[in-house]
Amino acid sequence: MPPDIKALTREELEARFKTWGEPAFRVAQLLDWLYARRATNWDAMSNLPKNLRAQLRESFSLQILELARKQGSPDTTQKFLWRLADGAFIESVLIPANPALYGEASDRHTLCISTQVGCAYGCKFCASGLDGWKRNLGVHEIVEQVLAVERAGCHLPVAGGQLETAASEPAIFNPQPATADRIVNNLVVMGMGEPLANYDHLIAALKILNAPWGGGIGARRITISTSGLAPQIRKLAVEPLQFRLAISLHGATDEVRNRIMPVNKKYPLTELAAACEDYQKLKGRMITLEYILIAGINDALEQTRPLAALAKRLYAKVNLIPYNKVEDLPWVRPAEEVCERFLTALEKLGVTATLRREKGGDIDAACGQLRLKTERELAKSPVI
Ligand code: SAH
Ligand code: SF4
Repeated sequence: MPPDIKALTREELEARFKTWGEPAFRVAQLLDWLYARRATNWDAMSNLPKNLRAQLRESFSLQILELARKQGSPDTTQKFLWRLADGAFIESVLIPANPALYGEASDRHTLCISTQVGCAYGCKFCASGLDGWKRNLGVHEIVEQVLAVERAGCHLPVAGGQLETAASEPAIFNPQPATADRIVNNLVVMGMGEPLANYDHLIAALKILNAPWGGGIGARRITISTSGLAPQIRKLAVEPLQFRLAISLHGATDEVRNRIMPVNKKYPLTELAAACEDYQKLKGRMITLEYILIAGINDALEQTRPLAALAKRLYAKVNLIPYNKVEDLPWVRPAEEVCERFLTALEKLGVTATLRREKGGDIDAACGQLRLKTERELAKSPVI
């Protein structure tokens, strides 16, 4: 299979077009079809000359994520299950910032995207790692999640529609601004997989999603979440783009983390904290510590002291998330009072903390759950 067109940057496309003797404005037209109008096939690109379209078809693939299943409605959290070209499944979750109360569409959305099929890190509470790791996503498969959600989630002008322009008249071609009709304003890399274990594809994809000619999503509106891969955190610290970083901590001592997150044996807290500290110093940006509250595992009040100490050392804020039940796993979320008490204790210790009052818990929104459910249903009867 030739490389996918959505794995290339503008500069790479310009270099290729140059070798074909094509003028630079053709690249702008192509990018407009791909990222502003989210075209799904070469034939839709009606203002590109036929021979150029043929050349593109021969040199690149143009893969589109196929929607296998969708849960939720446009004014609540929506979960998308995608079937990839090789039949594997991944998930993306679209979360409205202000769920519309009176039926109008919410204008701000956060999209949670996946970076791998499955996950090798096997955190004990997580659905994504239950069946192990299958493969890394390609750059285009990460990028396509945003485009495919925007295609599926709103009614856009159909590719190949009104803006047809004769190839000889590039001046009257008037592309929509890259941000027009965008429904994804924020991106969190918190879906299936460990993003920093697919580092190169992740960074290449985020550059495309950030570029004004691509996804147009500001770097400060993009958050990468990691279970704690210390060497890659150091690598991320020297990337020029200002992405946000979240650490899936879930335990403030090695004892707790070792019980639920095998990655802690490889990168124990001292090493992880040192990498985060260096990251914070280099970037000068606030890190977020994610802390799922799991009954009887990490919700005891004495855990708030080491957690507060770490948060202060890293100038980090803490996001408390009541655990989402995963089928077949024994873990449960603590009672609401326990979560509230944990939050209050942290705040008393001088930490900035929030407690998530769940959106989407009712539709299997925790990462990996819809895929797991679908794969199990498929194993029983092979049609969904
Ligand atoms: N691998 C990365 C990113 C994907 S997981 C990481 O671990 O950070 C995204 C977040 O969802 C992590 O903080 C993870 O711990 C959390 N998570 C996984 N299963 C969950 C569940 N059942 N309930 C609540 N949060 C969960
Ligand atoms: Fe993988 Fe993150 Fe789930 Fe751990 S929490 S198994 S690292 S996806």
